[in-house]
Amino acid sequence: MRFETLAVHAGHSVDPASGAIAPPLVLSTTFERAPDGTIDRYFYSRLGNPNRTALEACLTALEGGAAAAAFASGAAATLSILQALSPGDHVVAPLDAYHGTTIILRDILGPWGLAVSFVDMTDPAEVARAVRPRTRMVWVESPSNPLLRVSDIARIAGIAHAGGARCAVDNTWASPALQRPFELGADLILHSTTKYLAGHCDVLSGAVVARTEDEYFQRIRLIQLQGGAVAAPFDCWLVLRGIRTLPYRMRGHCANARQVAEFLVQHPRVEAVHFPGLPSHPGHALAAKQMREFGGMLSFQVRGGKAEALGVTAKLRIILRATSLGGPDTLIEHRASIEPPDKGTPQNLLRLSVGLEHPEDLIEDLAQALG
Ligand code: PLP
Repeated sequence: MRFETLAVHAGHSVDPASGAIAPPLVLSTTFERAPDGTIDRYFYSRLGNPNRTALEACLTALEGGAAAAAFASGAAATLSILQALSPGDHVVAPLDAYHGTTIILRDILGPWGLAVSFVDMTDPAEVARAVRPRTRMVWVESPSNPLLRVSDIARIAGIAHAGGARCAVDNTWASPALQRPFELGADLILHSTTKYLAGHCDVLSGAVVARTEDEYFQRIRLIQLQGGAVAAPFDCWLVLRGIRTLPYRMRGHCANARQVAEFLVQHPRVEAVHFPGLPSHPGHALAAKQMREFGGMLSFQVRGGKAEALGVTAKLRIILRATSLGGPDTLIEHRASIEPPDKGTPQNLLRLSVGLEHPEDLIEDLAQALG
């Protein structure tokens, strides 16, 4: 099946009890056992629920993996992948990883005994130099936040495997519609399904997808079920519904982002535009190779500093000043205000999650705000 067909059908089946085409929402926390006391299909909702099973089957199919585990947030899913390591293990991670991931690695799992080296993931030689005998995981996020840096997933997965480590890819920004990390050699995929997969800024959730259902994934499953940060039934229902339109939404996000980037790049008040779809972007050729399209995210630097950047956001009429990404509304954010200073995000940088409005309306809004 092709991707669009999978997005509509994977994880879906007509409800045998009612003939319903949309999946019923199952809220029951407990399920009746067979007369002989055995567990028929489900037992207790932390351990399994039909809406979660359906979402996990869909995510597995979309990424071309073997199994998936759905969590209450992308952060919980990230934590599960890293907690499946052992104290004393070493992780190589990007210097510019999503800052919540950095906090998990450094401040939560550091004291627990995990060692981590933060490197420039766009430089495979630096990644190779960081690998140690106890390296068990190389974490990739591409494109990165907020500078849209592109890392070579195939080369990094090769380096990880040569060093006896797994390669996990945070595929949140690209979504499986644009990037298929398993085809590039990754072992695990992380999603904040809160973003493009759910697609409407109305559900917080996350998932891990595994290329093989091996012992490592069994450990992630154990953390999911016994740690208990599972995705709630309605959240699974919402993500599964959002996925049905993912391929078509992504086309709109990508086309709009490209037009907005082309407008910004020629604007005299804009110092720089970070969008892999621009031929001038340092990751353009690599993104063209490993992604189907360049995505709906971009960032740009306004001439001046923080005041000038915030001044632009204050004048916007359609574009909303809010965090997060992947929904129908275009969102703008001054990232330096919410990221730790050591991340080094420029004070004049604004991040745009380009939504599904008409691109001319977005361009007109930016034009009047830039003045
Ligand atoms: N990974 C990336 C790239 C993100 O952008 C985010 C959230 O912004 C996360 C992980 C964490 O996901 P969540 O907010 O669903 O916990």
